[in-house]
Amino acid sequence: MTEEPHPELRAAVRRLCLRFPDGYWRQLDRERAYPEAFVQAMTEAGFLGALIPRQYGGLGQSLAEASVILEEVNRSGGNAGPCHAQMYTMGTLLRHGSEAQKRAYLPRIASGELRLQAFGVTEPAAGTDTTGLRTTAVRNGERYVVNGDKVFISRVQHSDLMVLLARTTPLERVPKRSEGLSVLLVELREAIGKGLEVEPITTMVNNETNRLRFRDLEVPTGNLIGEEGQGFRYLLDGLNAERILIAAECIGDGRWFIERAAHRAREREVFGRPIGQNQGVQFPIARAHIDVEAADLMRFRAAELFDRGEPCGAEANMAKLLAADASWAAANAAMQTFGGYAFDVEYDVERKFRETRLYQVAPISTNLVLAYVAEHVLGLPRSF
Ligand SMILES: Cc1cc2nc3c(=O)[nH]c(=O)nc-3n(C[C@H](O)[C@H](O)[C@H](O)COP(=O)(O)OP(=O)(O)OC[C@H]3O[C@@H](n4cnc5c(N)ncnc54)[C@H](O)[C@@H]3O)c2cc1C
Repeated sequence: MTEEPHPELRAAVRRLCLRFPDGYWRQLDRERAYPEAFVQAMTEAGFLGALIPRQYGGLGQSLAEASVILEEVNRSGGNAGPCHAQMYTMGTLLRHGSEAQKRAYLPRIASGELRLQAFGVTEPAAGTDTTGLRTTAVRNGERYVVNGDKVFISRVQHSDLMVLLARTTPLERVPKRSEGLSVLLVELREAIGKGLEVEPITTMVNNETNRLRFRDLEVPTGNLIGEEGQGFRYLLDGLNAERILIAAECIGDGRWFIERAAHRAREREVFGRPIGQNQGVQFPIARAHIDVEAADLMRFRAAELFDRGEPCGAEANMAKLLAADASWAAANAAMQTFGGYAFDVEYDVERKFRETRLYQVAPISTNLVLAYVAEHVLGLPRSF
């Protein structure tokens, strides 16, 4: 095998992750607690500011490098989910914020003084149909007044800022559904209890996620990012980065499962020989490894295009699908290899199995990736 790209960066992330071993994540999972110490360490190391340009205090790294950081977290047995959003959510501010907004927020995000971990898009009545969202932001002098409901909005209780997508022009007054949506930066500490109610949702993974109710929440007009009505376009701009970073996390998960499964298959003896001597045990692990390696090529292909500023929608979506499928195949291979022990929480397989399953559904479901490729790559008629 050739050497993996970015070996020094990988080694640095691995060193940090060694301080947060399996038991750390297991306990958090049991308590459904936020990895405060881990997020703090990642911030101090500069990793969560990887994509923030140096002039604003970040590391100014490429998306390929940022993806390696998240991959290594998941590969170590951890879960980058509680902190990954900062990397891609910040991109909306970076690409579309005013210079004053960037100066006000980015250095403080890079230093860890502020966390921008939350983004509010999904709604109970709209779901995958983002342009059908119903949360409104109505301008009233120097303020927007926000009303509506969101669901599955993660990390709100552990973030200072949230990027919110809301409708600023009613659907019936826009030529296209994708117009009339705007992005607002919500200062969560100001908002909670003063127009924003947060109700936690318990999910099958340790991911702090919430229902949000906006009732006349006031947001200063100065917190509008970019132009009013162009928010959906800004959201789309950030999606490729998100897809590539999530693909990298899946690749990290996949490698963790394969390493653990191969180790178990070598060590565990039944019928007087290692279970890994049986092809029925070897082959699913070998196949999952092949799938992960293939997904990895697509991840770097997509990241290279992104970093050169070239179109990469198809590659980013394909990388996300291939990587999520590969990690899921690896998860199943590991479950089967560990037999009954896979169900014992002390082995961490069931925890990682639950965690990696999320990526078939969020942040974009497999069907929607397939619909994108069918329509935008293959020219098939739009299905919805
Ligand atoms: C743990 C967790 C954390 C999350 N964090 C966030 C967050 O921080 N911010 C945020 O905004 N959202 C977040 N989400 C929401 C997530 O992005 C959505 O759950 C996801 O986009 C799917 O939307 P939905 O759940 O409404 O599914 P639905 O829209 O109800 O879809 C259900 C199923 O139907 C399929 N489907 C729907 N329409 C079609 C179609 N036309 N063709 C084929 N299949 C279709 C979908 O692919 C899906 O599999 C999170 C979700 C979870 C579970």
